[in-house]
Amino acid sequence: MEETFAIKSDPELWAELDMDVERFKNIPPVLTEAFKNIFLSQTNRPKTMAYFDDMVKNIFTGRIREMVDAKGEGRPVIGTFCVYVPEEIIHAAGGVCVGLCGGSQGSIADAEKILPRNICPMVKSAFGFKVGRICPFFQVVDFVYGETTCDAKKKTWEILDRYVPTHVMEIPQMKRERDKKLWVEEVKDFKAAIEKLMGREVAEDELRASIETMNAKRLAMQRLNSLRHHNPAPISGRDMLLIQQIAFYDIPERFTEKVGELCDELEERIASGEYSAPEEAPRVMVSGTPMALPNWKLHNIIESLGAVVVNEESCIGTRYYKDTIETGGANEEEMLEELTKRYMKVDCSCFTPNDERIDQVLKEYRESGAEGLIDYCLQFCHTYNIEAVKLREACEREGIPFLSIESDYSPEDVGQLQTRVEAFLEQIEG
Ligand code: SF4
Ligand code: SF4
Repeated sequence: MEETFAIKSDPELWAELDMDVERFKNIPPVLTEAFKNIFLSQTNRPKTMAYFDDMVKNIFTGRIREMVDAKGEGRPVIGTFCVYVPEEIIHAAGGVCVGLCGGSQGSIADAEKILPRNICPMVKSAFGFKVGRICPFFQVVDFVYGETTCDAKKKTWEILDRYVPTHVMEIPQMKRERDKKLWVEEVKDFKAAIEKLMGREVAEDELRASIETMNAKRLAMQRLNSLRHHNPAPISGRDMLLIQQIAFYDIPERFTEKVGELCDELEERIASGEYSAPEEAPRVMVSGTPMALPNWKLHNIIESLGAVVVNEESCIGTRYYKDTIETGGANEEEMLEELTKRYMKVDCSCFTPNDERIDQVLKEYRESGAEGLIDYCLQFCHTYNIEAVKLREACEREGIPFLSIESDYSPEDVGQLQTRVEAFLEQIEG
């Protein structure tokens, strides 16, 4: 284990951002311990994971400073909560897009002073970060862009707007022609809002270059994900989850380059027979609701029991990078058409019907060489929870071992989850 690892602190920077510094200064040491226990205790990690560990070290300092500097250069910093918000347009405007979904129990009590308790922990965690002034990312953004994917989110944005300027995109809930037209209009309005903030229009060339940059990022993630499917696994599920979480706050070009270096190393490891999990380790795929930083709970439970997670069908996972944008668009109108087509392929459970997601899960299950599927649902997420019924039926039809888990961010159910996952792994191992 690396003894010197410590997540950095910068109280001056946090004060500049009007954070509750007294309270927040306790967070880096706590997160450092969790990170050491969950990640640095692993043996035989790829060496190029060092970059991603560094991104964690700098999560509350160096990366925040880069965002403050971007603002100083007149570039907008925009927070989002959903992979439906088209980051290509933010990037084309020279802006910075940062995912603000909350994955921590530490901010839930702040949210529950205002919001009802029985809503999704992701929404409560994010909202609590802002009202408690205990998230430097939330403090650095110019504004946030919410969406209408689920009820908890869309109603929370009305209240969040009191604390930070909050715009909302309407995401259709069906995928008929008229829904697609609505979505194109929403994307155009989104672009206009970004341009208004910038005080200038986004040029065609900038949009084209940004589409290529984001495509390259998604392709690098696809390459990485197919390499990790190798049996035995050349990288752990915990490390893969971490990389997929960092994708939401790193600079896209730099991130793509580092993922490429990791892929090169994984190819070498496979060629030389160096792996992160033994061949006999049960291979588990996880599907369902996204796991925002620092939600490492389920992966940690699964892998601490000797299994390896080989795929995440999630927005912090394949749903974020499985599709790219066709680059043939001759002008802005055509580019935006192609962009919206790609986004309409995101198979979030907020859509009805959403059978393509069931097919996608089965496809990824086969490609990843998994031996069992754990469907993960955050508490009170009705759409993913109900969709698990169809997923279970599909798995039963296909003879796939299936376990459905509903959880939140508290440590209270860890023992119970361990017992259930352990029994599931025994079932897989036969
Ligand atoms: S699960 Fe749905 S609402 Fe959540 S980030 Fe993904 S697309 Fe957006
Ligand atoms: S996990 Fe479900 S309830 Fe929570 S924000 Fe996402 S779609 Fe909404």
